[in-house]
Amino acid sequence: MSTETLSFQTEAKKLLHLMINSLYSNREVFLRELISNASDAVDKLRFEALENDELLGEDTELGIAIDFDEEAATITVVDNGIGMTREEIIENLGTIAKSGTEEFLNQLTGDQKADATLIGQFGVGFYSTFMVADEVVVLTRRAGTEVGTKWTSTGEEGFTVEDTETSRGTSVTLKLQEEAKEYLSAYRLREIVRRYSDHIACPVTMPSLDKDKQDERDTVNTATALWSRSRSDISDDEYKEFYKHISHDFEDPIAWSHNRVEGRLEYTSLLYIPKRAPFDLYNPEAARGLKLYVQRVFILDDAETFLPIYLRWVKGIVDSNDLPLNVSREMLQEHKTVETIRNALARRVLDRLQKVATDEPEQYGEFWDNFGNVIKEGTVPMNPNRETLIKLLRFTTTQDSVPSGEEHAPQRTSLTDYIERAPDDQEFIYYVIGDNEQSARNSPHLEVFLSQGIEVLVFGDPIDAWMMSHLDEFEGKKFQDITRSSLDLPETKEEEKEVENEEDVDIDEPLLERIKTVLGDVIESVRKSKRLVDSPACLVLGDHDLDLHMRRVLEASGQKVPQSKPTLEINASHSLIEHLAQEQDEARFEDLVHLLHEQAVLADGTYPIEAGTHVKRVNRLLTELLA
Ligand code: ADP
Repeated sequence: MSTETLSFQTEAKKLLHLMINSLYSNREVFLRELISNASDAVDKLRFEALENDELLGEDTELGIAIDFDEEAATITVVDNGIGMTREEIIENLGTIAKSGTEEFLNQLTGDQKADATLIGQFGVGFYSTFMVADEVVVLTRRAGTEVGTKWTSTGEEGFTVEDTETSRGTSVTLKLQEEAKEYLSAYRLREIVRRYSDHIACPVTMPSLDKDKQDERDTVNTATALWSRSRSDISDDEYKEFYKHISHDFEDPIAWSHNRVEGRLEYTSLLYIPKRAPFDLYNPEAARGLKLYVQRVFILDDAETFLPIYLRWVKGIVDSNDLPLNVSREMLQEHKTVETIRNALARRVLDRLQKVATDEPEQYGEFWDNFGNVIKEGTVPMNPNRETLIKLLRFTTTQDSVPSGEEHAPQRTSLTDYIERAPDDQEFIYYVIGDNEQSARNSPHLEVFLSQGIEVLVFGDPIDAWMMSHLDEFEGKKFQDITRSSLDLPETKEEEKEVENEEDVDIDEPLLERIKTVLGDVIESVRKSKRLVDSPACLVLGDHDLDLHMRRVLEASGQKVPQSKPTLEINASHSLIEHLAQEQDEARFEDLVHLLHEQAVLADGTYPIEAGTHVKRVNRLLTELLA
């Protein structure tokens, strides 16, 4: 086939440009990225050769070789791994396959520092070579094919590809920029390999340093699978670099858990908790899961069956001695062993998180800000690790305030904290759900709690209503939605309230009935409230009615939901209600009652009110007032 000149996909071009400009301070990582790719290529070949050993041919010693040429100012990284076909290299090195890349790129601000962290979490990969090179030449031949491909690019507009002869695997040659010539040093390169790539399981070799042994090569990394070594022999830095290799993350992880299990099942796992959520955390198509090895042989990337969905952001490896080498993705889904391992791994991650929460609460807080909403997905009843998970939940409460300029107060209270702070005789864990945090905090239902200093959990995210529909109690205390009709206040306080109530104007049944007649079928009933202090009225739901927020979510998804009507509660000590009781003019009475109801609806923020009629009503009353 002839030479083709192709241009980079727009997204790729943009990312390339940003990367070259914003990650400039840490250019040496280009070598880590090349070695990481080469090692993956070796793993993939070893895996394919399990079924077809002809792929290996004579060249069975799989490894990575680094060479440099001072005069030509080039560095070459060669692997004899799987290689790429012409189509594969065009696809792999010309486009970015991750869905959501475009949205991600649109988030970038142009502020180099902020963008660098964003790009970092995206993974820098092969394009990082252009931080140090003017030109990159890749020679590659896919195992099992005859013709190789030469790919050349200066990292600007595009690249060319042409057929070539080359050995199996891939060689990447960087023609270094003038400012990057510092890397043309055996010592420097060895140091970089040891710093970033020591954990790579296959040998990385370089020419001997001894001038008399020019033809010999040294292995410059440890070259054993990191997870097969014992914990005490592995430094934190080695763990961190291994994380970057498998996750393509630029930042250090928060924590990890490395374990070997022996007995009925035998496997090793190394699981990492990242600092930042990937940009595609909520994209159902996004790749997730662990790297699967069977007896040290790489089998699969993104083996998602080893983690429950709420831990889809965990990175790591699992190396099993029990699964067959020819295990497939489909087989994994049915394997009993996998389910056992999954539950055990989830438990490890949760235990590790609990330790972070206890030892480094600030770190845990940041983690929660990034991953909290995903952890909440684990509150489903069928989760075998649910009890452990619930202790990891964090909330914001009425004791917190929203910092100025922000939309949310930090969620730092655990259920254990809540119970510890509450008086011993408080039977319930109270919570309020709003459309967003602000509206939850302003809910009239909170008034009596605020006035009596009872702490209430505040929810403002759509997932919260869903989560609370699964949570029943924690350590013997039931959860209580304070917008429900059967609200129970702590006893002592309730008694005080009764005393206060004696001073209320006497609201008689006829008034309640009069109000109900005006409102008709929109409400279930009208009654005196115990929960209001400053507001004249509010709406409450029956205990078994669907939460309004859940209802809206379900309705929006097209589901039929049973109708339920709220009850209107009125505040007997509010002067508006006193006036209402005395109102003789029927038309005015009706206007006032409708307004009361509409205000209560507005305060809940869940359903729109009929704006036109509402405005007319307000104007009528204002005109009378000002007349
Ligand atoms: P990532 O490694 O994050 O997928 P890269 O940009 O580094 O992103 O590489 C893109 C793809 O190119 C890889 O996923 C792999 O399929 C292919 N690739 C890169 N280097 C090699 C190599 N040395 N051998 C075989 N394939 C490679």
